[in-house]
Amino acid sequence: MSYISIAELSAGALELGIELSEEQLGLFDRFAEFLVQTNMKFNLTRITDPGGIVASHFLDSLTCLRAVDFKNGDRVIDVGAGPGFPGLPMKIARPDLHVTLLDSTFKKVKFISDAAEMLELEGIEAMQGRAEDVGRNKDFRERFDVACARALSELRVLAELCLPLVRVGGYVIAQKSGEIDDELASARPVIGQLGGCVRDVVRMRIPGTEIDRQLVVISKTKPTPDTFPRPYSRIAKSKS
Ligand code: SAH
Repeated sequence: MSYISIAELSAGALELGIELSEEQLGLFDRFAEFLVQTNMKFNLTRITDPGGIVASHFLDSLTCLRAVDFKNGDRVIDVGAGPGFPGLPMKIARPDLHVTLLDSTFKKVKFISDAAEMLELEGIEAMQGRAEDVGRNKDFRERFDVACARALSELRVLAELCLPLVRVGGYVIAQKSGEIDDELASARPVIGQLGGCVRDVVRMRIPGTEIDRQLVVISKTKPTPDTFPRPYSRIAKSKS
């Protein structure tokens, strides 16, 4: 007996153009069960029904794979991954990617690393830290091909947390919903200062739901100046 509806996940992924094998579907199933079990001890997510996990966590995470062309072996960082979204489902669907999941909260990072171990995933790491510090560390700065973030912050803050981590030629994918014109307008100046440029807003419906996802794709065109990222209090306060 599976925990989630394998048919729903499989069909939803296919709608996104992603074919999942029996083994991959099994990994998603075990991950869902582990998420719900762990959630009873440590609050990690408010979505705990199997259908909600399939749609709002798994399929929503997989929409990122449609936003840009991920190359074989690309290094991806999920910034503010929480319990692993979108990075962990991306890793299950694309085992060739090297995925780093970053979060500032210990219990979330511990959950991700326990889940990765339980699922015997390789080429994945869970890292505790603040993106604005990690972005100043030369071992991580401009080392990733793609940075993804869901529900991290307003776009102008998200851009400053993510763009320093991405190499020139790479991308940031911000998962957004609803009306984003104002957010885009207020983020554009700082995105430019960070060496980025909004390339695209990819809109798609999360399969099996009425939820419209908007994936803001930012290209990194120039190195990020040394003055970024700034301390969090400055990033959050600044309006430019
Ligand atoms: N991406 C997940 C979690 C979203 S909640 C999801 O969509 O389900 C935002 C997460 O970002 C929280 O887990 C929080 O701990 C983390 N976070 C917030 N600011 C951060 C920062 N500056 N650096 C790293 N993680 C951060």
